[in-house]
Amino acid sequence: MTRILEVSGLTRRFGALRAVDESSFHVDEGEVVSIIGPNGSGKTTTINLLSGELKPDGGAIRFRGRDLAGLSADRIAGEGLRRTFQNGRVFANATVEENVLIGQAPLARATAPLKPLRRMPIIRWAALVVETVLAIVGTPAQRREERERQQRAETQLERFGQRLLPRRDHPAWTLSYANRRRTEIARALASDPELLLLDEPTAGMNTAETQEVMHQLLDLKAQGQTILLVEHKLDLVMSVSDRIIVMDGGQVIAEGTPVEIQNDERVIEAYLGKRRGTIAARTHDVASAVLDDEGEAR
Ligand code: ADP
Ligand code: MG
Repeated sequence: MTRILEVSGLTRRFGALRAVDESSFHVDEGEVVSIIGPNGSGKTTTINLLSGELKPDGGAIRFRGRDLAGLSADRIAGEGLRRTFQNGRVFANATVEENVLIGQAPLARATAPLKPLRRMPIIRWAALVVETVLAIVGTPAQRREERERQQRAETQLERFGQRLLPRRDHPAWTLSYANRRRTEIARALASDPELLLLDEPTAGMNTAETQEVMHQLLDLKAQGQTILLVEHKLDLVMSVSDRIIVMDGGQVIAEGTPVEIQNDERVIEAYLGKRRGTIAARTHDVASAVLDDEGEAR
């Protein structure tokens, strides 16, 4: 199996707080790996470090053999690592379809054939002028690229069926919270990412909506999509994950298959305090507690 992501000694401090503390884990191609852990355990910070929203203070992030630690979010997205946000970020005034099309911007090679030159002083202006002229005239390669972009957006909108297709021309601000999150996932998928990072994709969703996302994740998994999922709802995590990484206080405290994790004493303690019982027995309690939590926050 190909190791697609290898994280070692990843560390990020906020003042005295070690939000992510020497954490190491890996993801193989085609795997669905979940990160779970109590609130504040460093899950979102980990995703932010992987996607370049935050710079690490230490450690390495090897993605398909290249060290991504410290690169910009743009560069990392260009390497094939795409994410969604815990609070669901969409462009409110753009339509659903435009939001999904935007996700493919770094793929547009025919539209920006001289992009590498833009990093060079003086020449960068010439490159921009040439690209602007090409954009106005429109080359056959650009038209083909545009058709392909449309096609990929279409495929992803179809994935969400009646939820998104009828709303493709609606501005994103008119969408329900759940549909905004679906749009965001469609946007990440439209670029055909090597690794999809999902930060609590079901946050704020009710039980039926959560089930729907679970089926979509299982579909993606069946199609071979590699996913690193941060998720609070343990029943969902247990059904979709090949492996689970457990964080507490910024550290990885356990790693294993869903069955191994369900019976891990440290995990039970971190999640459920000293109460007795396996996670399997308690999953339902935890899942509903989380839903109540978010219900209030909304
Ligand atoms: P999780 O996603 O597991 O709930 P986070 O990664 O969001 O946790 O946060 C881990 C810890 O880092 C928390 O104590 C949080 O308050 C802190 N933290 C996260 N982001 C920042 C920030 N930008 N500035 C200061 N502290 C932060
Ligand atoms: Mg979080």
